[in-house]
Amino acid sequence: MSEQGGEVLRIEGLRKAFGATEVLKGIDLSVAKGEAVVLLGASGSGKSTLLRCVNFLEIPSAGRVVIDGTAVGRERDGAVLYREAELIPIRAHVGMVFQHFNLFPHMTARENVMEGPRTVLRLPRAECRERAGRYLAKVGLADKMDAYPSHLSGGQQQRVAIARALAMEPRLMLFDEATSALDPELVGEVLQTMKDLSDEGMTMLIVTHELGFAYAVADKVLFLHDGRIHEEGPPDELLVRPREARTREFLRGHA
Ligand code: ADP
Ligand code: MG
Repeated sequence: MSEQGGEVLRIEGLRKAFGATEVLKGIDLSVAKGEAVVLLGASGSGKSTLLRCVNFLEIPSAGRVVIDGTAVGRERDGAVLYREAELIPIRAHVGMVFQHFNLFPHMTARENVMEGPRTVLRLPRAECRERAGRYLAKVGLADKMDAYPSHLSGGQQQRVAIARALAMEPRLMLFDEATSALDPELVGEVLQTMKDLSDEGMTMLIVTHELGFAYAVADKVLFLHDGRIHEEGPPDELLVRPREARTREFLRGHA
């Protein structure tokens, strides 16, 4: 929650259109070092698009994305221009966990986690093995290092995916509905892993519909509606006594 480490992520005036449809109409937000920020919004409101714009999996139509003080791309003539080389540090410093974990099926848990440090960071093999072991242990999978994804539960696979992102030692972690594809009985172990990460000081921007988790973990909650941050506040305000009618309506539907 502290500001002492400064901002890890700042987004200014971010817009994103697909053809004639403007999905994001001017987003401003910041995530300070160590903060957990939860982004809520109805299906189709643009939450995934916003997360994908942070690491330029989608190219914003306008606005600025600043990561650790470095702006990515420049706005010119109504478009955001960037060089491919600018994206390399971003992709290395921003970890992302999706709904579908997409582990390599022919690799063990440890090999999956080693892949990024090997191919992106080009670290020596022994160091990659050590990192993979360390981060798999951190997500509670020390005894599953040599298991193939098909021999792991959905919750265990998602924890491997979290370890895979952590092994890059990112400055910011993005979670996009990381528990939405899981059987209900497996959701808790993944949320607990995410909460542990936050408690250890990881900076996180999280899209989730798990309001109890949001209440427990978030320093700040944002509600995205009609392409804008419609309301924001600490969880015990936004989730408990929201000011805006739209926010109340959304929360009623997810209670
Ligand atoms: P959410 O994650 O909040 O459910 P999304 O960011 O996935 O919302 O989508 C927001 C809107 O943008 C939706 O109307 C979706 O159809 C549209 N959209 C997302 N990605 C694309 C794309 N690549 N091309 C065209 N439309 C898209
Ligand atoms: Mg989405």
